[in-house]
Amino acid sequence: MPRILLHACCGPCALMPISRLRDEGWAPELFWFNPNIHPVDEWLKRRDALREVAEKFGIPLHEEGSEPDPAAWVRELGGETAFGARCVQCYRPRMIRTAEFAAAQGFDAFTSSLLYSKYQNHESIVAEAEQAAARFGASFLYRDFRPFWWDGINMSKELGIYRQKWCGCILSMKEALAQQKEAEERKAAQKAERAARLAREAEERRIKKEALAAKQAEKARKRLEKIDSKNMA
Ligand code: SF4
Repeated sequence: MPRILLHACCGPCALMPISRLRDEGWAPELFWFNPNIHPVDEWLKRRDALREVAEKFGIPLHEEGSEPDPAAWVRELGGETAFGARCVQCYRPRMIRTAEFAAAQGFDAFTSSLLYSKYQNHESIVAEAEQAAARFGASFLYRDFRPFWWDGINMSKELGIYRQKWCGCILSMKEALAQQKEAEERKAAQKAERAARLAREAEERRIKKEALAAKQAEKARKRLEKIDSKNMA
């Protein structure tokens, strides 16, 4: 069976590529090299999740790379911090090291779980992988795993694999936290608005009820007055 090195960015994203590659007759082996995941405990959580995946599927896992140094990475970006531009600088070292490792270890091909994510810049990943393959004389296997997005999500939930809340780097973490804060604030504002509307409606009902009661009391008073004046006459 031909051996393929599957660069894996995390546990959940590796699931469908493993399944698909196996269905095609490949023998995948996992490669952990993601020096841009912040903070360190997140890096460890994702690596451990991948170890769990490797164990569940019974496939070898090759681990490389030290814990992240976000300050150095942001410095290297030289101001290109926008999503997209910065991502190329993040794919490149991973694809280079994967291609180098695949060539050195005699793999028949390599690919990446990054090609499963619908949030990544798919074309940039492919371009970086092809360049890295050419540089080291490795063979890059292009596959679009994105159509299996929901299968992967469901499988990761079924297997209880740790699912991260941001892409990886310190910038994506800050963006995710800001989005989360924004969503929470929006939710709190909607809740407060609903409470105010309900209070307003309750007050309107109370005023209407009081007005109706006053009207009925006035009617009753007039009726009694009429009866009294009849009796007196
Ligand atoms: S958003 Fe994701 S792909 Fe882009 S630089 Fe950050 S970790 Fe890398």
